[in-house]
Amino acid sequence: MDAVSSWTARIGRVVSPAGDTASKQLYFAAIMLGYTVLISLSHVEMVLTGQFLAALGVLLVATALAVVIRWEELRPLWGALVPVLDMVAVALVRDLMRESSMAVSLLVLIPVLWMAARLRMTGVSIAVLAVTVLIAAPSLARADAIDSLTITHSLLLPFIVLQVGMLVVGALKLLDGQHRKLTSALEEKAALLEAAATSEQLLKNVIDSVGVGIVVVDRDGHDVLMNSAQQRIHQISSPEGNDDPNEAELTLRYPGTTTPLPPDQRPVRRAVLQETYSNYLVSVGPAGVAGTTFAASARQILDRRGERDSAVVVFSDVSSYIEMVRSQQRFVAAVSHELRTPLTSVIGYLEMAQDTPELPPKAASYLEVAHRNAEQLLLIAQDLLADQVARSGTQKLTLRPHRLSAIAEQVVEDFALRAEQEGITVVQDVEQTPELSLDAPRLQQAVGNLLSNALKYTPAGGTVRVQTRVRQNEVELCVTDTGIGMSDQEQANLFTDYYRTETARDRHIPGHGIGLSLTRRLVVAHGGQISVRSRPGEGSTFTLRFAQRPEGGADGTA
Ligand code: ADP
Repeated sequence: MDAVSSWTARIGRVVSPAGDTASKQLYFAAIMLGYTVLISLSHVEMVLTGQFLAALGVLLVATALAVVIRWEELRPLWGALVPVLDMVAVALVRDLMRESSMAVSLLVLIPVLWMAARLRMTGVSIAVLAVTVLIAAPSLARADAIDSLTITHSLLLPFIVLQVGMLVVGALKLLDGQHRKLTSALEEKAALLEAAATSEQLLKNVIDSVGVGIVVVDRDGHDVLMNSAQQRIHQISSPEGNDDPNEAELTLRYPGTTTPLPPDQRPVRRAVLQETYSNYLVSVGPAGVAGTTFAASARQILDRRGERDSAVVVFSDVSSYIEMVRSQQRFVAAVSHELRTPLTSVIGYLEMAQDTPELPPKAASYLEVAHRNAEQLLLIAQDLLADQVARSGTQKLTLRPHRLSAIAEQVVEDFALRAEQEGITVVQDVEQTPELSLDAPRLQQAVGNLLSNALKYTPAGGTVRVQTRVRQNEVELCVTDTGIGMSDQEQANLFTDYYRTETARDRHIPGHGIGLSLTRRLVVAHGGQISVRSRPGEGSTFTLRFAQRPEGGADGTA
């Protein structure tokens, strides 16, 4: 099969317009010689006639010219010389073969094809003229009578040559068109590839020049793109002796703590799990060493059909801001702490003054106002201190065995009156949960924030459900409401300090955007997780999850 196709290709090259004159002529000469050998087997006398030998002579001359002359250096019209000589040879032989002259005449089709292929319509015209002069005219001259039969038969061959030539020219024109189209498509493709390579290089330069780490991951979590800043972050967080760690092996910690982030809380993993989030703080580097703190943000990338394709995670170094905020917090904490002592003393003396017998009524009322305001000032100083301590991440948790279900019941009880006043039904769906190591008052504060928000962001007539349950190895607490809800975009920023949704602001619902970030810090300090599911206008569910036996566990700072 291979041999057949290689021969077909070889013959194709010889007869194709691209083939050179020498190989075409050698091919034709071989056919003519084969023909001569075959007829000489039975009619050697025919071959030995002067006319046949003259035909062979013409063939020899044509072949010699085809081989010797550099045709590509001559004008294209010269390309007709060899085929016309071949036609002369065929005409001479044909003249000898009276009965089978028509069969021999068909041999002229080979040089006709070459001429048509090479010179197109000019070649066809020369071929028709040559066939008319060399074959049709002599056969008409030899005819016994010139009538419509002999004229028609004589003109048949030039007519066939014309048809075949036009067919070849038409087919080649079609091929030329397709070739041109193919060439321009290839050129276009090359230009597009060039443009794509240029913009890829530009994109690479741009993302390498920005100071933030950028990593793009596909659906399975494989890195698709990573800029040089991100490579450096990867390097800092790589454990010693591991040159190519995966994300679960990187040294990533909750900010300001020595607690490693669990695998599904790691920024890239969260993005692979289709989460969108902003300013998620992580500390990078070995535990115990003051590492660098980064704010990670993730967005999902959709393909042209709108389906999720990959995710981009951006890491910006916020260590200096964090340090600045911490020192500010330390300062405020110190000031508020220092204020408490003199204030306590002022209040003490005011109380003593109030107890003075026979105090003039005016003085008593002045003292009353001063006492009330001093108390208020002390309260503010205490609140300020508590808030700063919680924010600075230095507050120690006091962990004791406690049930999350008991905390839920306590919080529901605390808020029962407020719920009634606001016309909201609170459903308590509490399954007793096993004891965990918890700081009950701090966690009560966290759950209280969630229930307080649920009541605040649910209009009168709504329902709030507080639920606890045990799932596999986890203890869960959910607070679900039928309130105003949030969009996906709003949920992405929810646990950021001072963030408030547009809906909450538009409706003038009071708040400062501090509760949820504090709640998250408290939950994370317990080694737990907090998540939210919400739809605008339909309500929200906040879920806290704690492992029954936390591995590594919490480090006890909130
Ligand atoms: P605050 O309620 O004081 O503004 P939070 O930190 O507790 O602060 O909440 C942050 C923001 O999250 C709120 O301002 C509100 O926009 C939104 N939010 C919190 N809880 C809910 C909820 N249950 N339903 C709707 N929006 C909520």
